[in-house]
Amino acid sequence: MEYGNKTWRDVSFNDIFSGRKKNRIIGMTFPPSDLNLGLEPSVLTVLPEGTNVEYSLRNIDFNDNDVQLYVCSVYISGYDGFIAWALRHDRKKIIVGGYQPTIFPEEFESYAFKIVQGPCDDLLETIAQPGQVVKGITNYKKIPRYDLYDIKWNQQIIPDKKPNDVCTSINTCQGCPYRCDFCCSPIMAPKLICKPSDNVQREVDYLKILYPKWIFIRDENFPLQKDWRERLEMIERTGAKIYLFASANLLNEEKIKFMAKHNVYMICLGLEDITVAYSKNNNLDEVCRLLKKYGIYIYLSFIVNPLKIIGQEAGKKFYDGLMTRFHELAPEMVCGNFLMPFRGTKIWDEYYPFVSREDYKHYDSKTAFLIRNQVVREKMHFFMFWNQWLYYTSDFYAKNVRKFDIQDTLHLRFMELYNQLRPEYERIWDVRP
Ligand code: SF4
Repeated sequence: MEYGNKTWRDVSFNDIFSGRKKNRIIGMTFPPSDLNLGLEPSVLTVLPEGTNVEYSLRNIDFNDNDVQLYVCSVYISGYDGFIAWALRHDRKKIIVGGYQPTIFPEEFESYAFKIVQGPCDDLLETIAQPGQVVKGITNYKKIPRYDLYDIKWNQQIIPDKKPNDVCTSINTCQGCPYRCDFCCSPIMAPKLICKPSDNVQREVDYLKILYPKWIFIRDENFPLQKDWRERLEMIERTGAKIYLFASANLLNEEKIKFMAKHNVYMICLGLEDITVAYSKNNNLDEVCRLLKKYGIYIYLSFIVNPLKIIGQEAGKKFYDGLMTRFHELAPEMVCGNFLMPFRGTKIWDEYYPFVSREDYKHYDSKTAFLIRNQVVREKMHFFMFWNQWLYYTSDFYAKNVRKFDIQDTLHLRFMELYNQLRPEYERIWDVRP
């Protein structure tokens, strides 16, 4: 393809912008935003200022003549959708970034003018760099384009959050220096990069006027930052109940007490795979005890490695062990994820023979794609749900944790799954909703 007398690979920033009227700049995410579970997409951080900039919720086709740039954030499971869409559009106008282009830039060479690796908040400076693959530039001159996204589209599953409660999110840092063997966060940003606090303050001032009832701090591990207390006090001024991610090794009584005093409602601690010892979880039991003491809800995300639960006996042993941990730690919320091996993590070498290109679309943590047998895969999907359902509807949960059936987003989501799975698995259903 020609661009003037150049091939499209040689096109520069000036070629793209010189002499053009300000046509549309369109931000998109692949896969598209999930309006049942999603939050503000991170591509809003990348989109530049200007009234010609928009965020498209659906990845529809556009008329290339009206568009100056397409800014596409692509996650693994959105790769096929992106390729199909890109083939129908002018690749001289396509910029890609996000997890998949960062890790596999070569997979985008034929589909995009620029491939951005790592975090980025200055799009124009980033793409002005020579070459097709460029490092994202972050200079914190602006806040994310929250104005392009209707806050009503945000949904999050949070115990006690009602569907119409206004929920928003903020990101105050990126990356994690820890190296949990399965985690892809350090691949996107291997060192902790903190937003300047005046930038956080500007974001908080913007979010405050939306009167959120809930705010999710999207940082991978919030208390990693030296000044997390000041940042928490800023975010508290939104008036919203705060939910954040942290690792247990960074918490102690003094910190938990401070968090409780400053509106932290729930902390997500990664329980991860219960058959593996993670040093970050050495003090998990003590931290959960302290969270109970100070009234902060505990959210435990856990990992199920499908290759470890093949067969009835192995499955029973695993889920019995998991239930024992739930009873010991009494979390208000639990969430299961199937192991997803990411290239670049420590576990990759062990698992890459089980991953093929067709599995990309299943990188949603809810599909046991390491299992090739479809029947076994679907059963595993069911048992992941079923064991969480048993916990939420147990006498233990009702007596020792909280009431489950209160029409909040947690209860409603599990009822949705219940109704979805019931027709197929009714024969083993022995619990009423
Ligand atoms: S502490 Fe959390 S974010 Fe950091 S590497 Fe481990 S799992 Fe990933």
